[in-house]
Amino acid sequence: MLPVVALVGRPNVGKSTLFNRLTRTRDALVADFPGLTRDRKYGSVDYEGLEFIVVDTGGIDGSEEGIELEMAEQSLKAIDEADVVLFLVDARAGATVADEAIANHIRRVNKTVFLVANKTDGLDADTAIADFYSLGIGEVYPIAAAHGRGVTSLLQQALVPLLTEQQAQRLAAFEAGEDLKAIDPEDDQEQRDKHIKLAIIGRPNVGKSTLTNRILGEERVIVYDMPGTTRDAIYIPMQRGDREYTLIDTAGVRRRGRIDDVVEKFSVIKTLQAIEDANVVILVLDARLGISEQDLSILGFVLNAGRSMVIAVNKWDGLDDGVKDEVKRELDRRLGFIDFARLHFISALHGSGVGNLFESVEEAFDSATRRVNTALLTKIMNMAQEDHQPPLVKGRRVKLKYAHAGGYNPPLIVIHGTQVEDLPDSYKRYLMNYFRKSLQLMGTPVRVEFRGTE
Ligand code: GDP
Ligand code: GDP
Repeated sequence: MLPVVALVGRPNVGKSTLFNRLTRTRDALVADFPGLTRDRKYGSVDYEGLEFIVVDTGGIDGSEEGIELEMAEQSLKAIDEADVVLFLVDARAGATVADEAIANHIRRVNKTVFLVANKTDGLDADTAIADFYSLGIGEVYPIAAAHGRGVTSLLQQALVPLLTEQQAQRLAAFEAGEDLKAIDPEDDQEQRDKHIKLAIIGRPNVGKSTLTNRILGEERVIVYDMPGTTRDAIYIPMQRGDREYTLIDTAGVRRRGRIDDVVEKFSVIKTLQAIEDANVVILVLDARLGISEQDLSILGFVLNAGRSMVIAVNKWDGLDDGVKDEVKRELDRRLGFIDFARLHFISALHGSGVGNLFESVEEAFDSATRRVNTALLTKIMNMAQEDHQPPLVKGRRVKLKYAHAGGYNPPLIVIHGTQVEDLPDSYKRYLMNYFRKSLQLMGTPVRVEFRGTE
């Protein structure tokens, strides 16, 4: 699971500026969830291999009574979901009453907090931060988010040591065989390849709980009653045919027969973690509501994670043919760019289409985890080269020499050759599609990486 870092502080201290600076380090996927999470923004950061999720809160308006409320409504929730809190203050303004109020709240929750004094540009750093020790948080990290100053030290001194610890734990799990990438291709493959971690994700009310209940009603559930927390999804082991599954439920299943007993409904962090943890995700959409920005944000998270995916267009029951055609056209227009995921039209309520969904889930999983040896990959690469030669660059032809697998889930194919850095994107896409077709990989993205050789 990726660690979560929340940015907290009153408005205008520079939270968004820091957020942008942190997420800019990579093609950040930033999602706004208007209405849902009120001003909270999520992005992913990759700092020298250390990955975490950063959450920007809207800011706490401390000028009036509202602080308790605002704090409770958004920032407290963000703090609650976070592993680490960066508490931002404005070095130019000094410690304000609102800062003190926030500090009081933060000190009460049991979280690791770093106090960050922003806008120290043009100020004497020592004087600038001296004022903030009175907040009782401890060490003060001076930065100028707008200019990037101090941000690296903040990362290196505060975040990296802390988050590395967590990464080490994940690595231990990884090495224990949790992640397929760590497994030797020949080793115990059959056994591991049976186990599918399947996350059911989507915005509220699309029918995730109904689908989960439908699946659980039909399959053999090994463990069922597990408590859900705000942040963590529920993991439900089950068996379907000869395959073992862990269903990752982000909706919070209703106990059978008790409609009112709904555990936590929607959390972006929960969704992100579920995607991260899964081998395959079912993205549930609502045929009656079409595709919203929230759907696209969630979709973006899946694409960013390189996860295998099946799309379930739910509530397909009782629609007339005209509406169905219209929905299909909209899907085509807005999701046409996703060429790897199968689309299913289902009714979680009545169960139609749910069985077929699993065929695609298994196909996606098998595609994502399929072992392909160097000889075959190189052969396919050569066929692609023969069908369509790499272009000439500066009078020399790019030469592709051999290909091997660099990882699974999603499949990564590493191609070695000369001048590969000059390959145009169109040719890279051509190769990727060639591998996809030749190996019949469906339901999973396929990544191709290029390495230069002499
Ligand atoms: P937020 O409301 O906490 O998200 O604050 P913003 O990131 O929107 O920043 C508020 C204002 O402070 C903007 O006008 C920024 O340009 C400015 N600002 C942010 N960081 C710095 C900084 O390091 N130095 C200075 N001088 N101004 C900054
Ligand atoms: P979640 O928030 O994504 O877990 O959504 P729920 O499973 O709670 O469903 C939201 C609403 O949509 C409920 O009233 C369900 O009864 C309804 N619903 C779910 N699936 C279907 C379906 O396939 N067809 C129809 N007509 N309604 C559905």
